[in-house]
Amino acid sequence: MTDTPTQLFIGGAWADAADGATMPVDDPATGEILCHVADAGPKDAKLAEEAAVQAQQEWGRTAPRVRSEILRRAYEIVIGRTDELAHLMTSEMGKPLAEARGEVAYAAEFFRWFSEEAVRVDGGYGTLPDGRNRMLLSRRPVGPCLLITPWNFPLAMGARKIGPAVAAGCTMVLKPAPQTPLSSLALAAILKEAGLPDGVLNVVTTSRAGEVCEPLLRGGRIRKLSFTGSTAVGRLLLAQSADAVVRTSMELGGNAPFVVFEDADLDKAVDGAMVAKMRNMGEACTAANRFFVHRSVAREFGRRLAERMGALVVGPGTRDGVDVGPLIDRTGRAKVEALVADAVERGARVLVGGRTPAGPGCFYPPTVLADVSPESRLMGTEIFGPVAAILTFDDEDEVVRRANDTPWGLVGYVFTEGLDRALRVSERLEVGMVGLNTGLVSNPAAPFGGVKQSGLGREGGRVGIDEFLEHQYLAIPVS
Ligand code: NAP
Repeated sequence: MTDTPTQLFIGGAWADAADGATMPVDDPATGEILCHVADAGPKDAKLAEEAAVQAQQEWGRTAPRVRSEILRRAYEIVIGRTDELAHLMTSEMGKPLAEARGEVAYAAEFFRWFSEEAVRVDGGYGTLPDGRNRMLLSRRPVGPCLLITPWNFPLAMGARKIGPAVAAGCTMVLKPAPQTPLSSLALAAILKEAGLPDGVLNVVTTSRAGEVCEPLLRGGRIRKLSFTGSTAVGRLLLAQSADAVVRTSMELGGNAPFVVFEDADLDKAVDGAMVAKMRNMGEACTAANRFFVHRSVAREFGRRLAERMGALVVGPGTRDGVDVGPLIDRTGRAKVEALVADAVERGARVLVGGRTPAGPGCFYPPTVLADVSPESRLMGTEIFGPVAAILTFDDEDEVVRRANDTPWGLVGYVFTEGLDRALRVSERLEVGMVGLNTGLVSNPAAPFGGVKQSGLGREGGRVGIDEFLEHQYLAIPVS
């Protein structure tokens, strides 16, 4: 902790907020304050914007190979500091160290992937239908970007945006979530060490998100917003982006269905459920929120899942052998408690968990609910906690209709041993991603994103860099 920066990162230098404000960073496992970081206001945001605007021209003209090698060095540094970064993330966010190490590798991989993509941006040359005119097509950086990230994957969400922005030649102002500013500041220090020029990445940590971001979005100098967070905030930011016609990428909330057919391999289904539900204590946009299990196997699936969930060890993420850390804060935990209470009131049976432990920290036990009523509030709300809600279904058409009966469409999980059914159901689900007999879809080499109110655009994969590039077409008459 001693070496972790706690100031704003603007124009390649560390600085206090202009008004000297700071904000505390808490350890969710103890409720204690870890440290204070600079709390930026609108003045600091303007300075960060100015640094990004000033750096854009030159950075956009940098050789792709230079940008690629900066990212490659950043990848090596992140991997080399896995333990240090994992401890930092666990202390500010709560996830167990093993998961934090996994996230460090996942975050680093975005740098490696986009270091490889930086040198593969292509253009084109062609003859127009009249046979005379030619067109020359090129791609260029969209310009200075505002990146806004959530607290649940503090390192990976930053890397998933910074990687393609650097590769494309864009400059950035990054505003991380106030609960987890330290991971982003550590990332900025690493990119500086990797050779990123001053002003290309600027980081403003703040408790005043609206005051800091709205003027940038409406001001006309920021050309792109890349946001990851809730659908409610995403909607607001889309409206604010309309004034200056800012391009947007939106990675928003989910309400994932997890469908287990009668011909599923139940071992695979339970393994998949453990990952889809329990990765990050259930605090993931990809978390399975609604388990639809065929009536004929629902009892056995519930029994096995409850056994596995009940065996998990809950405790501070830094402690050896802990599987489930604390939730992010008391508000997050109170939401989970209220959703479980509502489901139980409407007839759900608690197979395991369901009781908040006494003592400090924001812990909540792994919980399985059976016979959940479709009227329960958790059906239409991201639970964002370690609670599996099981409902039953009788046939394929019915389950597809119910799975799609939500404004969200990020990811769905399908468990069946029948290839025909697997493909048919996957194609009918209104989602951007499907896990087929697996509970994990996230991979830097694949396009991540949702449909409906889960977002606009994709991060990662071959298309991830497109979000930060514009096309330019040159018309050339040839006589
Ligand atoms: P959130 O409340 O929407 O906040 C996300 C970020 O937006 C934070 O940095 C937040 O800062 C900022 N923000 C809030 N209001 C703002 C405003 N008016 N102007 C500018 N920035 C603003 O979401 P969260 O609770 O941090 O994260 C959980 C949500 O993220 C879930 O819905 C989850 O599904 C979603 N998520 C989606 C993906 C994906 O890839 N689709 C990945 C991870 C998480 P403040 O906290 O200071 O307001």
